[in-house]
Amino acid sequence: MRLSSYFLPTLKNSPREADTISHRLMLRAGMIQQSSTGIYSWLPLGFKVLKRIEQIIREEQNAAGWNEMLMPTIQPAELWYKNNCYNDYGPEMLRITDRHKHNMLYGPTNEWQITDIFKKHIHSYKKLPSRLYHIQWKFRDEVRPRFGVMRGREFLMKDAYSFDIDRETAKINYNRQFMAYLRTFNRLGLKALPVNADSGLIGGKMNHEFVILADKGESEVFCQKDWLNADVNIDKFDYNENLQPVVDSYLKRYSATKARHDPVNCPIELGNLINLPCIEVGHIFYLGNKYSEPMGARVTCPNGRKKVVHMGSYGIGISRLVGAIVEAYNDKNGIVWPEKIAPFHLGLINLSVDDMTCRTASEDIYTKLCSAGVDILMDDSYYRPGVKLAIMDLIGLPWQIVVSPRHAVNKIVEIKNRRTGKREEISVEEVLTRFAPANQALT
Ligand code: ATP
Ligand code: MG
Repeated sequence: MRLSSYFLPTLKNSPREADTISHRLMLRAGMIQQSSTGIYSWLPLGFKVLKRIEQIIREEQNAAGWNEMLMPTIQPAELWYKNNCYNDYGPEMLRITDRHKHNMLYGPTNEWQITDIFKKHIHSYKKLPSRLYHIQWKFRDEVRPRFGVMRGREFLMKDAYSFDIDRETAKINYNRQFMAYLRTFNRLGLKALPVNADSGLIGGKMNHEFVILADKGESEVFCQKDWLNADVNIDKFDYNENLQPVVDSYLKRYSATKARHDPVNCPIELGNLINLPCIEVGHIFYLGNKYSEPMGARVTCPNGRKKVVHMGSYGIGISRLVGAIVEAYNDKNGIVWPEKIAPFHLGLINLSVDDMTCRTASEDIYTKLCSAGVDILMDDSYYRPGVKLAIMDLIGLPWQIVVSPRHAVNKIVEIKNRRTGKREEISVEEVLTRFAPANQALT
């Protein structure tokens, strides 16, 4: 992509309305634009990151055995008032009336809807377990939308659901999601901590929140001091094995709690206990028959009797994660993307577009890296060199290649690692071998 044709409205100064580092940086880097309170447009750079995160989550959900589908954003209110939940949900629900005076709502979550779909199609234990998920926008009219996309009113969520014959088999799916979450957050470059949590509005019996530490976090977690510096490893596992020991051993090593320290029940030694602000990025629930009972979602058992199914629901806040990752990865000059979710892998800066040598070298590198499949943003703009460098730092691509008149004559460029700040002068040839995938011919 050429910067001259890329829609990247960066801002020099911090917008006043932004209340966290990530919110400021996302606005300054031209990733998002507020449409109304807690509702954002995703501009090309932000949208690219959102899609990268979404794809990692999708791959891990598929690997864990879930089927992707898509439910609508707008739901009929009947689904909710049949179960006396329409009013219970309170003012967070955005209620809408269509031209025929039908009451509708913008879905804050999809448990009722998925249970309705399940019960219309699955009637026998032979079809279980059933595992479904979707990635869809939700709306919750939050009392205090803030921190940009981290607490929005409209936000993108991955929500998965499972249906099983009893508690034991439901637990198998719960554990699968638990492990899928560890793998997902690990791939996103985040150290997410599973915390035994309150079940909140959705309700349920067994649940874990996945939180990451953040200065501006809205809640707090008690965890082990050791964990802060530990390299968190996920032991090798297979989704088809009994995951209970794997989950238990992980929880034992990295236990955390949200309750104020209680010396009797706290799993963490006092000397190793630390209390820090955190952000919730995911939440998994064993729901039992909370939804299946009132909706009559039953299947026939081997003995011919009907039984209410046991459900689980598993959410990840995808749009919140974009903010959370920026919150975790930045420095005084801007965002510092982890490689796997960076919008582009590298930024190529032509410092002097009027200089023929610079132009030829930049175009050459650009063409070759593009054809080798490298996702690259080339600054071919007429901005001043200082501005170019500042923009590239702000948008935080992992690598920068700087083509300057001084070096281009000798077929040399400067490369910079955005995270370490380390610079190196290397030949144009070497750029190609270093940044293009090894199996591509580059001549
Ligand atoms: P919170 O306690 O932060 O309000 P929640 O417990 O209500 O979240 P869940 O119903 O568990 O949220 O939703 C699953 C995930 O969706 C959360 O873990 C979070 O990552 C994300 N999420 C929830 N509310 C919002 C919001 N207002 N803006 C962005 N993401 C959200
Ligand atoms: Mg929650």
